[in-house]
Amino acid sequence: MLEQDALAIETFAARSGLTPEQRATLLSWTGERVGDVRMLFRGEVFVSRALRNPVVRGCPQCLREQAEGQNRPLRYMSMSGDWLCRGVDICLKHRHPLVPLWSCQSRFERDNIGERLAMILPELFSGRFECEHVEPFEYDRWLDLRLSQGLDDTWLAKQALFAAMTFCDLLGAALLRKEGQEVDGRHAKAAGFAVASQGPESIQEALERLTRAEDGEHTVNQGELKPIFLWPSVTSIAMMRASTGFAISFATMS
Ligand SMILES: [Zn+2]
Repeated sequence: MLEQDALAIETFAARSGLTPEQRATLLSWTGERVGDVRMLFRGEVFVSRALRNPVVRGCPQCLREQAEGQNRPLRYMSMSGDWLCRGVDICLKHRHPLVPLWSCQSRFERDNIGERLAMILPELFSGRFECEHVEPFEYDRWLDLRLSQGLDDTWLAKQALFAAMTFCDLLGAALLRKEGQEVDGRHAKAAGFAVASQGPESIQEALERLTRAEDGEHTVNQGELKPIFLWPSVTSIAMMRASTGFAISFATMS
């Protein structure tokens, strides 16, 4: 099952009484391999490491809610597909950050959900995993809508999701650094999304801001943009770069 062997999935689906649609939905939230380092997740191509990580995260309040009051709590607990996606930082229902629940290098140990959940059950009930609630950003809502329903009314709708998600993170981090602010993942993604979701003119304006020196003149090096252009090449981000003239000329310099 964990290797997504076709026969194993077929047998599981038949014995569980899953319709073809239900099986497709299950797999789409799990991520299916397409090549060595890529996966198809919710109909979009992702780099595998954006979906597979030794550290498994989740919302402790979701899990506690499912388990509470049940004689056999493990029967009622499930891991949400969106928790796999590294761009997702919070549970919108509980406004709770996704927190590390367990960490295992071995895939089979890590994905043995029943055993892992059984081990952390006492801590889940005691509230040890819970922390302060957070306010969702527009980025969080955008990503949730795109993953859950494929809806996107921003300019990013035209971009591959993995590229868009990563670009928001890198651009936002660069903008925060430029402003001398502390870079933390959630704020960086929110800042990048505020710019990137508006489209090419907004992105171009931000890129120009990033390459402007203190005296108002443009710098000749890549400055805060360097991490963006050092990012491993993904065709879709090249498309995003290409959609702004400024970025094209910049890319050819790198
Ligand atoms: Zn939750």
